[in-house]
Amino acid sequence: MWLAGLPTAANKHRFPPATLQIACFTERPEERNGVVLPNALLRRFPVAVAAERAEAWKELWPLVLQSLYCGEVIVTHCIAGRHRAGGASALIRAVMMGETFEDASDWIAQRRDTDVPGFCRDKEAAKWLQETVKNTKRRDRWPRPSGYLATPRSALHLQGFKLVPLCMHHQKTDKAQRLTDPMFTEDGDEAVAWDRPWCRACLARAPASWMPRDAGSE
Ligand SMILES: [Zn+2]
Repeated sequence: MWLAGLPTAANKHRFPPATLQIACFTERPEERNGVVLPNALLRRFPVAVAAERAEAWKELWPLVLQSLYCGEVIVTHCIAGRHRAGGASALIRAVMMGETFEDASDWIAQRRDTDVPGFCRDKEAAKWLQETVKNTKRRDRWPRPSGYLATPRSALHLQGFKLVPLCMHHQKTDKAQRLTDPMFTEDGDEAVAWDRPWCRACLARAPASWMPRDAGSE
């Protein structure tokens, strides 16, 4: 998980190969003279916008968690990478590591020139971050997807274990359902060519690298 300033056409070669790019503002990076990194899924997390951050976090968190569980690279940025992205990174680190928001923010400040206390002068934002650290749960991980499954009449699922769609996978029992005679492929283009609608429940359990870049991207 990386904390950075805005990726641009001029500096994008210096970024790690991220599968998930979290822009901590409302606009797309292009509207701020930035870029979406190659092969990255863009998600926006406007952490300074009271009316938007809670909903954005609810959607973002499962994706962040599963992507980190699967060892994928996440780049979190705002413009300078000091305030908003610092606050967002401290939130993610605090929940992942079971730390307080302050400890996570101090840990980050020792490694990068951030000013999270500056961001937290917005008292409402500071309170929201504190409460969100307390209220966000780290659930167990889902299996890493290993291919695509569908029947001529089903949705397009991601495979968890052998012929079991991720959405039917149970973490604590082995009573998982299998599809009957599904088509299977490891090739994303082939799967999309089956022309089945995506299973939203499977996508909700997928890391960023397995999210469709057309429909699922912003
Ligand atoms: Zn599914």
